Amino acid sequence: MPLYEYICQDCGNRFDSLRSYSQADHPIACTICYSQHTKRALSVFNAHSGGRVIAGDNHQGCSGCSGGSCSSCNH
Ligand SMILES: [Zn+2]
Repeated sequence: MPLYEYICQDCGNRFDSLRSYSQADHPIACTICYSQHTKRALSVFNAHSGGRVIAGDNHQGCSGCSGGSCSSCNH
């Protein structure tokens, strides 16, 4: 059973919980204040690799194109 990390939006508590995949996005009570205003934290791996991909793509192409097709450099 995978380990998920959650953040309480009321008190800022971060806590882990072992849940099945189908329960991962279900509401879960904070372990400190028992608030249901919690959300699942993004994994460190996903946030890190996502930022690196965006930074790597930026210096290909010209200053006029910001990710989409660009008529001035055909990038
Ligand atoms: Zn809390």
